[in-house]
Amino acid sequence: MTTAELLGRVAETDSTFTRKGADWLGKCLICNGPIAFDATTGEGATLEHIRARRRGGTNELPNLGVVHGRCNWEKGRRWDPKRRRSEADYEEFIARLIERRQQRWREPPTRPDRARDGRLDDHDAPASA
Ligand SMILES: [Zn+2]
Repeated sequence: MTTAELLGRVAETDSTFTRKGADWLGKCLICNGPIAFDATTGEGATLEHIRARRRGGTNELPNLGVVHGRCNWEKGRRWDPKRRRSEADYEEFIARLIERRQQRWREPPTRPDRARDGRLDDHDAPASA
């Protein structure tokens, strides 16, 4: 699965997103500001692992968000516990994002060729093909 496909899967399960022609329009999971990306190329947004993979985060849809590139960068810069933030602050920040993702959650459209629960395949698929 390409990053663009994965971004699309996240948008499908985020109720702030609507499909408008070639683009998905919605809200950034981190700053809540408007965000749009090309459904074919993914251009305009970045894929966020809410809990970083190196900190035990998964590739499953509830742990993924569509965010601005600058928000993704800012999150890494400001919230990584290796920097000046504490572990507790990081966990609180992650918990807020997880909660927001859950509040926005909607069931994806069913596809005959996909798992019904909308999650990724069981194996740990990379974000880009
Ligand atoms: Zn943002």
